[in-house]
Amino acid sequence: MTQRIHNFCAGPCTLPLSVLEAAQNELTNFAGTGMSVMEISHRSKVFMQVHEETLALAQELISAPPQFKPLLLQGGASEQFAMSAQNLLAEGGEAAIINSGIWAGKALSEANRIATMRCIWDGKAKDYTTLPAAEELSIGDKDYRYLHITSNETIGGIQWREYPDLGIPLVIDASSDYYTRDIPWERCAVVYGGVQKNLAPSGLALVFVHENYLVDHPEIAKFSCYKTHADANSLYNTPPTWQIYILNKVLHWMKEQGGISHFNQFSAEKSAKLYAAIDSSDFYYNPIAPEYRSHTNVIFRTPSEELDKAFVSAADAAGLSGLKGHRSVGGLRASLYNALEMASVDALIDFMQQFEQQHV
Ligand code: PMP
Repeated sequence: MTQRIHNFCAGPCTLPLSVLEAAQNELTNFAGTGMSVMEISHRSKVFMQVHEETLALAQELISAPPQFKPLLLQGGASEQFAMSAQNLLAEGGEAAIINSGIWAGKALSEANRIATMRCIWDGKAKDYTTLPAAEELSIGDKDYRYLHITSNETIGGIQWREYPDLGIPLVIDASSDYYTRDIPWERCAVVYGGVQKNLAPSGLALVFVHENYLVDHPEIAKFSCYKTHADANSLYNTPPTWQIYILNKVLHWMKEQGGISHFNQFSAEKSAKLYAAIDSSDFYYNPIAPEYRSHTNVIFRTPSEELDKAFVSAADAAGLSGLKGHRSVGGLRASLYNALEMASVDALIDFMQQFEQQHV
């Protein structure tokens, strides 16, 4: 392989080429230290500068108000399934969740290992192809502490257009559409996401916690308390310094490109083009209710599983990688994260048309 391919992986995934090249340039000598950024102390002045700038940029780009503390935490988004429930339900009470697919389901079962989370709407009967309209949602007189939602189901290819408002704080798993949309901060308690889609190499979650929830809970592990990490400015223990360093570069790149409003529009444009190609063909099919189709993970199928498999191998051979659907659901999936260029979407559509012609 002499050139970069079109990378539609769902995460870890494509990163901006300029970021990779900049990292390559400084790999053996970071900021005149004569060492790689991976070889220096996380408490050194030069790293602390990167770390603090990263937190500040993360906050600025997503317009998080000062009441929200940005945290860089290990354990990915999966750890946040537990950690959000541990912290927000430490004094008892129950939480609600909308089960929109595989990731919401995981958040639900994880929270229920340690606390009580009730599912108030489940998309299972419709095979997770739609989300509830506002009038379908009610919590009656139940005193739920918060509502957990999954902003975008990475495997199911379904995305909230507007987050539900039930008058209780939201905890949002924003993993796969992080930094492609605005967050209604005034209604949020916690917003979290793994960084390995739009932001950085895997190994971190970027979590915003409202100050009301930065409370010490002696009954849970110190490492599991949001307050521990907030007090230590996300340097309670040795963090994954390389991930933070790349995150810093990606955030700078995003800012140069025009920030969230740019990526919001860009992901809408990329996905609209791909959905139009799917809809205009009798060969490809997407089952999701049009108003909830994901702008970042476009799922589709050919007429058969055999053809799906053939599609993936032919696409790979043509330099289009990562198009296999998640192992739990099969089919095909193109992830259109921030660093994926329109040229890659165009190349995919050309390939789809050729494949269709060869297989009808
Ligand atoms: N939530 C969503 C929506 C995801 O897409 C993923 C990972 N693909 C996770 C949670 C779990 O993330 P992690 O692997 O960082 O634990």
